[in-house]
Amino acid sequence: MAYAYDDQNIFAKILRKEIPNKTVVETDHTLAFEDIYPQAPVHVLVIPKGAYVTYDHFAESASDAEIADFNRVVAQVCRKLGVSADEGQGCRFISNAGEHGVQEVPHYHLHILGGRPLGRMLQKAD
Ligand code: 5GP
Repeated sequence: MAYAYDDQNIFAKILRKEIPNKTVVETDHTLAFEDIYPQAPVHVLVIPKGAYVTYDHFAESASDAEIADFNRVVAQVCRKLGVSADEGQGCRFISNAGEHGVQEVPHYHLHILGGRPLGRMLQKAD
């Protein structure tokens, strides 16, 4: 089954510059920008410029160049904002996908959260 990409999603609008963003790093394939409702002192979203819905969609369908570039940008953001685990105190990478993952924006994005202790990864469900 093919993923259906909604080009009216908010990150598609950011990529078309219809909505402003606070850019942290930008390359030909990738954009990293500050989350509008930060959940931690550092909260950056890294998105590919291509039309991918989830992490697994990106991993399955993106070119090697896009995948390599995306991952290099993740590392650049961590260095730039001081949340790498060697020079800084670490961070958390999160990517929500689909209904069970409670993904709000249907354009693949990786959250980078840091700048404070983040607690355990998941709370036990009822
Ligand atoms: P999700 O729940 O899909 O993993 O996360 C979507 C994220 O996008 C949320 O953390 C939310 O705060 C962020 N977000 C939603 N709309 C905007 C926007 O217009 N600009 C920015 N910078 N972030 C947004």
